[in-house]
Amino acid sequence: MKLTFTPFELQLKHRFTIAKFSRTATPLMLVQLEHEGHIGYGEASMVPYMGESVETATDFLNKIDVNELKYRFNYAEIMAYLDSLAPDNPAIKAAIDIALHDLEGKLLNQPCWQLLGSNPELMPVTSYTIGIDTPEIFAQKVHDAAGYKAIKIKLGSDNDKKLIETVRSITQVPLYVDANQGWSNREQSLDLIYWLYEQGVQLIEQPMVKTDPDSNAWLTARSPIPIVGDEAVQRLADVERASGVYHGINIKLMKSAGMYEAKLMIDKARQLGLKILIGCMSETSCATLAAAALAPQCDWADLDGPLLTSNNPFNIPDMEDGKWVLIDMAGLGLVDMEHSFNNIVL
Ligand code: MG
Repeated sequence: MKLTFTPFELQLKHRFTIAKFSRTATPLMLVQLEHEGHIGYGEASMVPYMGESVETATDFLNKIDVNELKYRFNYAEIMAYLDSLAPDNPAIKAAIDIALHDLEGKLLNQPCWQLLGSNPELMPVTSYTIGIDTPEIFAQKVHDAAGYKAIKIKLGSDNDKKLIETVRSITQVPLYVDANQGWSNREQSLDLIYWLYEQGVQLIEQPMVKTDPDSNAWLTARSPIPIVGDEAVQRLADVERASGVYHGINIKLMKSAGMYEAKLMIDKARQLGLKILIGCMSETSCATLAAAALAPQCDWADLDGPLLTSNNPFNIPDMEDGKWVLIDMAGLGLVDMEHSFNNIVL
């Protein structure tokens, strides 16, 4: 097994602003694992507020003894090994996990979605996310999103209702709302939720701060719209804690340390009766296809990474009726990636 990696700066098409942060680019670490003539590809997306960086990722990768990544992969043992190297760093662990899955699919000549037991016919639509912006630019972005089957709006500024009204003056597609912990008053939030319900909003992510489960649970008990925990839910151990606090959870590979644990989280959430949104960070087609392989097992998908970036080094997968298309190709189904990756390395 050979491990190689390279940093890559992923550029966003538009400055992206959410309740507490704003950025125009995201540092990535692209990873390759090579075994018996096959190459598995992985990716870490390290948005600044999650605490990882090119430096922490490099340090982590340099600690890995590739002899611990023996084929056939025992993901439970491998994840325990990666967790033993450092307690956090879920994004760079996800990069290794995604590369292992891609490699395993190629070695077995099976698509990842098949290895994970997904039915492509159950793929949910992917929402297209629009960040906080001036009214003019915001309206332009809504027009740009006309072809998508669901739109996700980042709320948490002073003019939340105005943003929704702007969307509704342009399109009637289902709306998802993400407050990114930006709401603070229970009663005001509930009033807004009832108003959002009338506007056709179908889910709300992380209304209150993650450190206040009581307020989030108070809203969940009263909301006519499903409330989904995102910042509050990172890895498997958090799923149980989300039960009773949220209607559902937002699983992202960059939080869950990859596909193996994301699948465990899906199964755990189903046992607990929680709904599931599968989301993403700013990502290339690599991590997006990894999440898409699990998306048919989820209720909603917010896998718009490649749609919001301008220098994705990989081919963008096909989308039909607002849904990513899972193809019958070994591994993740990345096309022409070898060529792109080697160009970056050079
Ligand atoms: Mg969110």
